[in-house]
Amino acid sequence: MNAIDTPLDKAQITGLTPAVAAKMARGLGLETVRDLLEHAPRAYLDLSKSKQIGELKIGEEATVTGAVAKVDARPIRGRRHMLTVRVGDGTGYIDIVFWNQPYRARNMPVGTKLAVAGRVERRMGKLQMGGSVFVETLGADGGGVHTGRIIPLHRATEGVSANQIRRFVHSALQKFGGDIEEPLPEGVRERHKFPPRGQALRALHFPDSYQQKEKARRRLAFEELFVLQVGLAARKRRFEREAVGIAHAGDDAIVKEFLASLPFTATAAQLRTISEISEDLEAARPMHRLLQGEVGSGKTVVAVAAALKAAAAGSQTAFMAPTEVLAEQHFLTVQRLLEPLAGHAPVDPGRLFGERWGVELLTSSITGAPRKQALDAAANGSATILIGTHALIQEGVSFQRLGLAIIDEQHRFGVHQRVALRAKTTDEAQPDLLIMTATPIPRTLALTLYGDLDVSVLDEMPPGRTPVRTVLAKDTATRIWSAELIKDEVAQGRQAFVVCPLVEESESLEAKAAETEYQRISHDVFPNLRVGLIHGRMKPAVKEDTMRRMRAGEIDVLVATTVIEVGVDFPNATVMLVEDADRFGLSQLHQLRGRIGRGAGASTCVLVTNADLEAPERETARKRLEAMVGTTDGFRLAELDLEIRGEGQIFGRGSVGEETGEGAPAQAGHTDLRFASLVRDVEALGQARKEAFAFVDQDPKLRAASTLRSELRRRFGDRLDWLFVG
Ligand code: ADP
Ligand code: MG
Repeated sequence: MNAIDTPLDKAQITGLTPAVAAKMARGLGLETVRDLLEHAPRAYLDLSKSKQIGELKIGEEATVTGAVAKVDARPIRGRRHMLTVRVGDGTGYIDIVFWNQPYRARNMPVGTKLAVAGRVERRMGKLQMGGSVFVETLGADGGGVHTGRIIPLHRATEGVSANQIRRFVHSALQKFGGDIEEPLPEGVRERHKFPPRGQALRALHFPDSYQQKEKARRRLAFEELFVLQVGLAARKRRFEREAVGIAHAGDDAIVKEFLASLPFTATAAQLRTISEISEDLEAARPMHRLLQGEVGSGKTVVAVAAALKAAAAGSQTAFMAPTEVLAEQHFLTVQRLLEPLAGHAPVDPGRLFGERWGVELLTSSITGAPRKQALDAAANGSATILIGTHALIQEGVSFQRLGLAIIDEQHRFGVHQRVALRAKTTDEAQPDLLIMTATPIPRTLALTLYGDLDVSVLDEMPPGRTPVRTVLAKDTATRIWSAELIKDEVAQGRQAFVVCPLVEESESLEAKAAETEYQRISHDVFPNLRVGLIHGRMKPAVKEDTMRRMRAGEIDVLVATTVIEVGVDFPNATVMLVEDADRFGLSQLHQLRGRIGRGAGASTCVLVTNADLEAPERETARKRLEAMVGTTDGFRLAELDLEIRGEGQIFGRGSVGEETGEGAPAQAGHTDLRFASLVRDVEALGQARKEAFAFVDQDPKLRAASTLRSELRRRFGDRLDWLFVG
């Protein structure tokens, strides 16, 4: 063990008692000296250039130092709390305003010396700083050690102040600074003119200038991305070397016939993707491909073409969807798409017969005899395509010859489902794997999360679509207008969705709210229309029936919870009204909106909100809604989402967005990014990826890179163990 891996309570840093160490572990996840040194400051205060209050200009970002002259704390309109701290330095006064943080008053009694940084504003004739201000108390307790220079502000926690953490980091650097190893290969470091890691960490915490800090951060960000990409590169290369797949023989006749039987012409993007996938299916190594395509771009057709190609070579396909509703829809769609091909199923005596394509459905609510039938069909090979939810990867499901696994809307699944589905075969050979996702994944994130996959992109929409118009409804007039719009559209034979407010963590409360909304809408709002209801707590048979009636045009307005969020396809629906839209995440809204605008008709999405979007605590909600009104481009929205939410966890729950869909497991947090920003460091990511692949190709087992190896192990834990085996 390296000295730098000493637990914090044993590191003998002044003031860092076991009790303090416990608080830092609990609140910040910092356990070792290494963790402490990698605890990047969240901001900096430049005390070397602080300004006199009398010289401040409105609109500038500035740092001032002074003493608290007056503190005023008061609730506003009963719901919000405003704390105003007046700071003076002899040349004038400035008011620092904090919203909803009454506790901060405790640390700033009159007379306290403060350094404050933020944007200077004028409110009612007085100087003010509000919004994101940074405040540091410069007391007797050592703030002074670091005055007169750029000081780091570290994220603090209950019982441990930023001031204390700064001093701990300072001592840790003095004591352990010589013990910081270099994970970047020499050549990489030289090519990019990066400072050594120890130097970079020092400059990250205590820079002489902002340029020096940025240089240090860039190096650490690059290193972080490089390590990640080395892991992915090693995995991909090993997989290519060792995995044995199924070479699905090269007859495309059935695929051609399928494409010819469609009621529309496949887009060029669909044809291109289908042929990319075909090539992979024919190759002897297992396919490992991600299909990215905007909502409505027609991924299902591509999936079915792939399944047909696999079936022609005698393989079964497992097609996994994230929700029951979607699995059922896929089941119906696939059956419908295959109807014209009846009689052309590959004849293989004892397994598949010429008259029928064996399409089966398996979800956790299918029980008894139908369940047994689906399981038998999977096991004896008579199911050509088994469609289902994550029930497909549970115990008791086995295939006779699983040749292709398709996972739809992968962003709702975690990584381990991918792996489990692959394990569902008794053969030595691995099935081909196709992962499909609508794009709430920006390219940077895709490379980071799925850097070991090949990628196909459906970058073209079927012709004749009009982008959905999106309207924000904040007032009664707009709401009345949207009800009229729904009536008009229905009068023209169209259909509408009303999406109920999200009730997080409780499907039963959500179901109840949906029932109430349904009563209100069917009786009070649209007494003359045929209103339907669907939510997650309904019996599957009821859900199915509702979906069927909607499909058959027997429902005009469908009141729904987010069960319809993903994948649901009713090309005749042209209006969607989302209630309390401010509660939804951006990728969720984008997915929801993707349910309309799927046919030729012009569609409108109304985002209803009752919240006061001007309130500071609603800032992110307001930005999300503005983004939705501003663009329908999924890539752009995904990027905006990252910007709005900040970086946060990349390997976290179901990855992007606030989804809590079934089968989205919480995952280890160690792989979250500490230094890199997926918004800012796009270029670095590309470079890191290139360097990583080159490095792995020249030293596949990383034999000559022990520090890099242990860095990988720290970041990925057991998940990379296979890398070092054998
Ligand atoms: P997604 O990519 O969101 O899963 P779907 O596969 O559900 O999209 O397709 C959306 C709709 O577009 C479906 O109604 C489908 O039948 C239709 N569609 C797919 N491909 C085409 C095409 N080439 N031309 C016209 N409509 C198409
Ligand atoms: Mg889909």
